[in-house]
Amino acid sequence: MGIAENIKQVKETLNEGVCLVAVSKTKPNEAILEAYQAGQRVFGENKVQELVKKQEELPKDIEWHFIGHLQTNKVKYIAPFVSLIHGVDSLKLLKTVNKEGRKNKRVIPCLLQFHIAEEESKFGLDLEEAKALLSSPDFAGLEFVEIRGVMGMATYTDDSEQLQKEFRSLKGYFHHLKKLYFQNQASFAEISMGMSGDYQFAVEEGSTMVRVGSKIFGEREYH
Ligand SMILES: *Cc1c(COP(=O)(O)O)cnc(C)c1O
Repeated sequence: MGIAENIKQVKETLNEGVCLVAVSKTKPNEAILEAYQAGQRVFGENKVQELVKKQEELPKDIEWHFIGHLQTNKVKYIAPFVSLIHGVDSLKLLKTVNKEGRKNKRVIPCLLQFHIAEEESKFGLDLEEAKALLSSPDFAGLEFVEIRGVMGMATYTDDSEQLQKEFRSLKGYFHHLKKLYFQNQASFAEISMGMSGDYQFAVEEGSTMVRVGSKIFGEREYH
């Protein structure tokens, strides 16, 4: 089946208002243009170099989301154009994003990444770490970042109860932080969860943004 048809199928199962991020990592420009011609405008990439190259070559009204692990020394390359950084999990990284936002005279939207999966991972905050970050005086001084919500990746499993539990915990963190720190910030509204294999569960649990790659573009090949 073609890319346009895949997008249509995925969209049909999303609740109204859920944003589809088409994850185009490792895929060529032709595939992205096919999705673009089908009306898709939001794309996700997880490598800085690849993202920068695609941004230069492809239509300028594409909204590029960075969904991978971002190293501080690479923020400068995407700061001029990135629409949303999904994977922020340290104050150090936020400070760098802020510095680059200032240089580019733009406020850069970010999501806080949480560790919700069973699998060990170096990446992602727990609730206590997120609260420490958000209550720190250093955070209060960051004028060029805006926290728009939370992001998480569930365990790679087809155990629906496990998935439900993990997505529910992320939604719980979102509401907790909303109440404590973002009551008066309407733009703190995103729960980025759900990928090709589990987005339907994520949507049932209140996802506002799904990141779908292989279901749209086909399996990825890594060389
Ligand atoms: C690759 C990736 C996705 C998309 O994965 P698929 O299983 O191909 O849909 C979503 N989120 C993140 C963070 C990714 O790295």
